[in-house]
Amino acid sequence: MTHDAIVIGAGVIGTSIAYHLAALGARNVVVLDRGTIGAGTSSQSSGILRTHYSVPENVELARRSWQVFESFAAYLEDDDASAGLVRCGYLIAAPEGSKLAPLRDALAAQQDQGITVQLLTPQEAAQRLPICRFDDAALIGFEPEAGFADAYLVASGFARAARRRGVRIIEGVEVEQLLLEGGRVVGVETSQGRFSSATVVSAQNIWARDIERWTGIETPVRAERHSVLALAGPTPYASTMPVYKDLGSPGMLYCRSYGGTQMLVSEGGAGETLPEPDNEQGDIPVDHVLQIGAQVAERFPSFESAGLASSWTGVYDVTPDWNPVLGRLPDVPGLVVAYGFSGHGFKLSPAVGRVIAQEALGLPTDVSLAPYALERFRSGRLLRGRYGSGAVS
Ligand SMILES: Cc1cc2nc3c(=O)[nH]c(=O)nc-3n(C[C@H](O)[C@H](O)[C@H](O)COP(=O)(O)OP(=O)(O)OC[C@H]3O[C@@H](n4cnc5c(N)ncnc54)[C@H](O)[C@@H]3O)c2cc1C
Repeated sequence: MTHDAIVIGAGVIGTSIAYHLAALGARNVVVLDRGTIGAGTSSQSSGILRTHYSVPENVELARRSWQVFESFAAYLEDDDASAGLVRCGYLIAAPEGSKLAPLRDALAAQQDQGITVQLLTPQEAAQRLPICRFDDAALIGFEPEAGFADAYLVASGFARAARRRGVRIIEGVEVEQLLLEGGRVVGVETSQGRFSSATVVSAQNIWARDIERWTGIETPVRAERHSVLALAGPTPYASTMPVYKDLGSPGMLYCRSYGGTQMLVSEGGAGETLPEPDNEQGDIPVDHVLQIGAQVAERFPSFESAGLASSWTGVYDVTPDWNPVLGRLPDVPGLVVAYGFSGHGFKLSPAVGRVIAQEALGLPTDVSLAPYALERFRSGRLLRGRYGSGAVS
């Protein structure tokens, strides 16, 4: 049997692509994953949803995606679907210094794109997040239509909705080779045999370097491990309190409520590059915990005495400009890719799934994929964010 499309990878990106392929009319779509749905890097996500970016193309994808997260069950026509959305808003603050101008420009650009963004005084910010001090903040933006959700639930939601529309999702199958005839895609060879299709979509995240092995086309993505801590402080970080991005901290920390009372916190900059893609749990040195704890206590004074409740590591698929590669690879007709989300792919996953499905089916895309082309790394027209290296981009 030949398929309309084969999707490699069943994370939030691959399941979203598969759902949208079926919703746009594709038949005989198959998703292949060597593991299980959402169990790649998606299950390690901090889940933060915002439209705040200094790259306007990302703002547009995030805005379209937020509309899906907000109405997830209705969008999927599945009453039981839930994204686990907590709509608590997103606060971002910068003191005087190098991050101030990028923040001012990004907030203004968001407003120009029609997104509701409020500028808060330190007093107003403290009303929303009373456990935090804002006395040195020179600029504070608040995005009410933001918060966090659960990437694993979202991947399973997309997967179930895709299956209801006839998509086959096969777990425990390894794609070993991309099959080409006359330079065109004709399918894939796997641990369970051959699957035929003139269209293969790679949503392989840190494992996208398979593409380089299979086609010889450079795949500029590296695996970068990050750690996430859950801290229990004497005062709760309630789920009604906004996500907070601290551009003034050395690690550009991001924080949010976790489990209703704890704080989830992680660094927003670069992590540890791994020699090979691998999403197994890594060590988190005590020094690292102490160093993050000190930065948290600086900003959240009551967390001086906080304890470490839990911790885990997760791996980003980082490209040289910290933005994804999306679209066709012109040198290999039939191959479409979506990789390199650089730690911020969850919040883009609904819109990315739809535009990649449109591209794979030869339909006009809702937003142009040209800025996200692999070609940018040759032409130098990079999608570089103004905050420097890091997932806020
Ligand atoms: C610690 C951490 C925090 C994050 N926080 C946020 C956040 O707050 N907000 C946000 O928007 N984003 C965040 N992200 C990023 C976001 O979670 C990811 O961009 C997104 O989940 C990636 O989804 P994916 O489908 O591309 O990848 P994955 O979930 O990794 O899926 C890829 C799948 O491909 C499969 N695969 C690969 N190669 C093959 C092969 N050859 N054969 C078969 N199967 C294969 C793998 O098994 C895997 O299941 C975070 C990420 C991490 C790690």
